[in-house]
Amino acid sequence: STPANWTRVDDYLAATLLDDDPALTAARRDSAAAGLPPIEVTALGGKFLHLLARMTGARRVLEIGTLGGFSTIWLARGIRSDGLVVTLELEQRHADVARANLERAEVSERVEILVGRAADTLPQLAERLAERGEAPFDLVFIDADKESNATYLDWAIRLGRPGTVIVVDNIGRAGDVADPGSDDPMVVGTQRGLELLGSDPRVDATALQTVGAKGWDGFAIGLVR
Ligand code: SAM
Repeated sequence: STPANWTRVDDYLAATLLDDDPALTAARRDSAAAGLPPIEVTALGGKFLHLLARMTGARRVLEIGTLGGFSTIWLARGIRSDGLVVTLELEQRHADVARANLERAEVSERVEILVGRAADTLPQLAERLAERGEAPFDLVFIDADKESNATYLDWAIRLGRPGTVIVVDNIGRAGDVADPGSDDPMVVGTQRGLELLGSDPRVDATALQTVGAKGWDGFAIGLVR
């Protein structure tokens, strides 16, 4: 379980650094009321993604794993005014909740939700980029089924360009990521993703462990060469 002081410090940091945000509070509340699992990024994590979008001047963002659209709202608020967030979600029910949350946050016109297995929607997205001449993605946030992280990273690189920033969430897994004999598919998937980031000549990467309200975890960040 998460030590109380990690949560206390997250609460302090959020109170000190973040404004009250009715649309985000309502998004979290309605996602919970609809029975979605409470596995969205923290508000501090959402703001990190938001700042990253602004720091990179991102116009086009790809998110894999929408849930109720909490991180999507943060990202959509960080992109340029003519930008687009394409977010991929397996569950129609999650996408419906996300759509309502995005509308209330007044960002729905700059977000496209593609429902289906990301392993199916990613190749469709690649075809679309090729056929319609759409621009590559500037920023990619990978936060779905961890078993598929290596596949998603490969697509993120292919759908990006030199300079595209890729963030992979939940790479610490309470320390389990360092267990070479793990038979947990989420840990193994995370390890395969990190191995790709460490060895693929198309990308340069690092990773940081985190503690906070969500426990002991971390994220990886990569830069497409
Ligand atoms: N990024 C969200 C946030 O921080 O607000 C949280 C995403 S949640 C951790 C992971 C989501 O990925 C869930 O909504 C789940 O249904 C979705 N998902 C799981 N497997 C998937 C797949 N194969 N393709 C697309 N989405 C998937």
